[in-house]
Amino acid sequence: MKPPSKLKNRAGLWLIARGDTVAKTKTRVVVALGGNAILQRGERGTYEEQLANVRKTAEQIGKMILSGKYQVVITHGNGPQVGAILLQNDAGQKYGIPAMPMDVCGAESQGLIGYMIQQCLREVFVKAGRPDIPVATVITQVIVDKNDPAFQNPTKPVGPFYTEEEAKRLAKEKGWVVVDDAGRGWRRVVPSPDPKDIAEKEAIRCLLDAHVVPIASGGGGIPVIEEDGKLKGVEAVIDKDLAGERLAEAVDADVLLILTDVDGVAINYRKPNERWLRRMTVQEAKRYLEEGQFAAGSMEPKVRAAVRFIEWGGKRAIIASLDRALEALEGEAGTEIVR
Ligand code: ADP
Ligand code: MG
Repeated sequence: MKPPSKLKNRAGLWLIARGDTVAKTKTRVVVALGGNAILQRGERGTYEEQLANVRKTAEQIGKMILSGKYQVVITHGNGPQVGAILLQNDAGQKYGIPAMPMDVCGAESQGLIGYMIQQCLREVFVKAGRPDIPVATVITQVIVDKNDPAFQNPTKPVGPFYTEEEAKRLAKEKGWVVVDDAGRGWRRVVPSPDPKDIAEKEAIRCLLDAHVVPIASGGGGIPVIEEDGKLKGVEAVIDKDLAGERLAEAVDADVLLILTDVDGVAINYRKPNERWLRRMTVQEAKRYLEEGQFAAGSMEPKVRAAVRFIEWGGKRAIIASLDRALEALEGEAGTEIVR
C-alpha cells in the first residue's frame, strides 16, 4: 500500500532536511576510473568503441550504487580524449579555426566523457527499475599553486608529434618546452602540478546531499591558478588520481577506490620475483615509493594518492581492477593501503 501523500511529503522533507545524516548512513566512495574504463589498448577511439567500454564500466558502477550500500562520486582519466581534441584543434587551424588553449580542451573532454557516463548509467538504472537515480557531470576546475615547482620543470607530453625542426620552431614561437618523446618524435611537454583544492567542491557536496551521482574532476580537473581573486586556466595536466584524492577529501569520502587495468599493486613488477600485494601499510608504501617500485605517471601517483588519503584521515584506499570493483569494496580483491 502506498503511504498517504501527506506523510510521503513530510517524510521527503525530513529526508531533505536530514540529507547529510541520511546520506552518511551509506559509505561514501570516490571511484577513480582509469583509461581502460573508456578506451582499451589497441582501439582507435571511435565513439562506438568508447561508448561500448563506458557501458561496461557503468554496469560495474551501477552494481555498486544499486546495492544500496554506497554513495558514489565518479572521477575519470581523459588522456586519449584530450589528446585527440588537441590534435583536432591543431588540424583545424588549416581551416582558419583558432586552436583552443589546453584548459578549454580539458573542459571539452570532461563534457564528452561525462555525457557518455551519464547516458550509460541511466541505461543501467532504467533497466534495474530505478530511473529515479539522478546523475550529473560537474565541469570541474582544480586549483594549483602558481609557484608549484612543476611549472619550472614540465614533464608531461601532450598533443601531436612533430619533427625536431617543427618542434623547435613552435618552442620559439609559443614559448613551449619540447622534448624527444622516447624516440617516437618531438612533443610538447607541460607541467604536472600538484592539485590543491577543488573549486566546485560546494556544488559537488550539494549534489551528493541531494542524492545525485556526481561525475567530477575528470582528467584530473581543469588546472587553474588564483590571481587577484580570479581563477585562470593554465597549460598543464593534473594527475587524475591525485586530483581524485583531493575530491575524496572535499566530499569527506570514506573510501578512495582507484580502478585500473591491473589487479592492484605489485612489487618487483614484471620481474621474476614479482609479488602482488593484498595489503600494504602506509609505511611500506612510502618505502616502496622511495625504492622506485611504481612507474612514474602510472602506478606511482595511485599509491601516493592512496597514502595521502589515509594520512588525511580517510578510512579505506583501494587500488583494484575495474572488473572487480565491487569485490574490491567488499575486501575480496585489489590492494588496500592501510594505516
Ligand atoms: P590508468 O589509466 O588506470 O591510470 P595507468 O597506465 O596510468 O592506468 O596505470 C596502471 C598501470 O600501472 C598498469 O597497467 C601497470 O602496467 C602499471 N604499473 C607500474 N608499476 C606497477 C606496479 N608496481 N604494480 C602494478 N602495476 C604497475
Ligand atoms: Mg594513469
